[in-house]
Amino acid sequence: MHRPDQLARLADRSERWDLIIIGGGATGLAIALDSASRGYRTALLEQGDFSEGTSSKSTKLIHGGVRYLRSGEIGLVRESLRERGRLLRNAPSVVRPLDFVVPAYRGHERFFYGAGLTLYDLLAGKSGLGATRHPGKSGVMERVPNLRGDGLRGGTLYCDGQFDDARLAVAMAKTAVARGAAVVNHVKVIELIKENGRVAGVVASDRLDETEYRLEGKIVINATGVFTDSVRRMDEPQAAPVVRPSQGIHLVLDRRFLGGETAVMIPKTEDGRVLFVIPWMNRVILGTTDTEPVPVELHPQAQEDEIDYLLKYASMYLKEAPGRGDIRAVFAGLRPLVSPPKSGAGSSAQLSRSHSLFMSASGLLTMTGGKWTTCRQMGEDAVDRAASVAGLPTRPCLTGDLPLLDDPATGGGEPLDEALPYGMGDVDRAVREEMAMTLDDVLSRRTRAAFLDEAAVRRCSPKVAARMAAALGRDEGWIKEQLAR
Ligand SMILES: Cc1cc2nc3c(=O)[nH]c(=O)nc-3n(C[C@H](O)[C@H](O)[C@H](O)COP(=O)(O)OP(=O)(O)OC[C@H]3O[C@@H](n4cnc5c(N)ncnc54)[C@H](O)[C@@H]3O)c2cc1C
Repeated sequence: MHRPDQLARLADRSERWDLIIIGGGATGLAIALDSASRGYRTALLEQGDFSEGTSSKSTKLIHGGVRYLRSGEIGLVRESLRERGRLLRNAPSVVRPLDFVVPAYRGHERFFYGAGLTLYDLLAGKSGLGATRHPGKSGVMERVPNLRGDGLRGGTLYCDGQFDDARLAVAMAKTAVARGAAVVNHVKVIELIKENGRVAGVVASDRLDETEYRLEGKIVINATGVFTDSVRRMDEPQAAPVVRPSQGIHLVLDRRFLGGETAVMIPKTEDGRVLFVIPWMNRVILGTTDTEPVPVELHPQAQEDEIDYLLKYASMYLKEAPGRGDIRAVFAGLRPLVSPPKSGAGSSAQLSRSHSLFMSASGLLTMTGGKWTTCRQMGEDAVDRAASVAGLPTRPCLTGDLPLLDDPATGGGEPLDEALPYGMGDVDRAVREEMAMTLDDVLSRRTRAAFLDEAAVRRCSPKVAARMAAALGRDEGWIKEQLAR
């Protein structure tokens, strides 16, 4: 993936696009990958970096969503389990199976969760990852040595999927480019082009050098997550909002706060929420909260009371309870919760419980909601609809069995920091092959350093910025600006 090549394609006015996609998170990338692999001429524009919005700040689970069983959403769970199986097959270097235990402190919990998870196995069918088991107290403690043992009766052990969200985004971008899409980061759509009242393209601005691009296409797709309404208002200034953001934060801790490689899921805390304690990249992730109303931002901030909430609930379940001083990193993301517009001004369809696809009167197609786990299906649904509306030749979806291109970090070269599993070789590759343009692109999303250890990132930033400046032909001023950001 070479950014100047992608920009040259955007600048080429002879190129007329079939699909233009706004947004380079899970949703937009899945649409671009689906569209390009069917052979449609595809362009994707992301205002920041790939997955810089919600998509790099998830709980990092590729899961059926056990908790949806409680609300009877069987169809959603079945769809998610099928997609989990596909992702494990198509992206084995980024997605892997992970064991979870649901601890039982009351007698009926073992039976209740055991029955629910047995149904989960049944729904997974051929994509199952192994049968649910029911270890006793000692079996649970062996797997999660830091779990509180007093009152523990045993637990339910099941398997789900875990992934590196930002790396999956890069893998999808690389694969879409390899299949012929033009995919570019740091280019923001600032206006929609209209012809005879129909959306016919976009005007976009490169945020790194202010160059403006005008792209014309048969259909424009809005895949901007919590920014959905701002793009819909470029089309219809009076459009009523359809997305309500809800914030979830995670704390990153040392691995000793689990003590093993099995995750813990608490399906219902005292106040009725789900709590995860998950091993990830030699650390532990604790999450998540559910806070609204919150403003729409690319980089939402964790509130003090959200941090207190997670620490308080963790202390109810963990023997050695984490305190403020144990937090290595914090990240916050916004869920795009959707209620599609009422029919009238264009058509709307709830294709699946997990996501919504709707069309404005002037032909802007919006895909939103859903989750990382189901993004491939979202891509397929959006491209089916786009092809039919735009009158493109019908071609079958290929992403169900399409392997994604990814080379995991090697940690090669001079280490970034003793607390991080990355080396300068990873920085070089990110700049050379993965379109990393800013220090944050490298430290947050090509490597996950900033999600693992904020203090280590502060230590290694100057040398990483200097290395990037040399590779990108930037000066001292650029280094200073990147460090300040
Ligand atoms: C706390 C939390 C935990 C989660 N955990 C999980 C999980 O474990 N598993 C799971 O399956 N799902 C999970 N999800 C859900 C999942 O992360 C989201 O559904 C998914 O990332 C949404 O992707 P998206 O592409 O729709 O939105 P985003 O990732 O926000 O992408 C939208 C993009 O559009 C860009 N954009 C906006 N305006 C413009 C413009 N004018 N021009 C160009 N680009 C623009 C933004 O910069 C942004 O990158 C979680 C969500 C949250 C909040």
